[in-house]
Amino acid sequence: MQLYINEALKRVGETFAFQADEQLPDQEYGTRELQFLSPATVKGEYTFNGKAFTVTANVKVSLHSVCARCNEPFDEELSFNFSERFIRQTAQEDEESYRYGGDAIVLNEAIMDNLFLQLPLVSICREDCKGLCPTCGVNRNFEQCDCCNVAPNNAFAVLLERQNEYKEV
Ligand SMILES: [Zn+2]
Ligand SMILES: [Zn+2]
Repeated sequence: MQLYINEALKRVGETFAFQADEQLPDQEYGTRELQFLSPATVKGEYTFNGKAFTVTANVKVSLHSVCARCNEPFDEELSFNFSERFIRQTAQEDEESYRYGGDAIVLNEAIMDNLFLQLPLVSICREDCKGLCPTCGVNRNFEQCDCCNVAPNNAFAVLLERQNEYKEV
């Protein structure tokens, strides 16, 4: 995804809006294979201050994910914002900033870096996913089994149960 910056380079201090859709390439991240179900929607603005560009944007992506509780595949929607600084390829300072060359800013690296920061450690298909029965392995979102009535085996679960009992009173 590229922003063409010829105008902005001439008009220092002005803010330019942009919006674009881009199919991001599938890639590996740690043990996870990131597969994008549809083009990412990137919407934002950029400003040149005479030395560097500031690009702020919102990114929406839809990822193929597998639920950590029930093992079912699902579409995981992520939306996040970023604000990044870009300096000319040949600039001597600011090793921390992204670089731009010629008449375009290439956003892909900044988008992916920020996506990695936003990825949840554990992806859950929905807030109230019941997961798999630890005893017989059925998906408790779809099926009930008789072995699922075992007492919760950790203190936190017990507390939750008690809270629910109070609520019901
Ligand atoms: Zn699930
Ligand atoms: Zn079971």
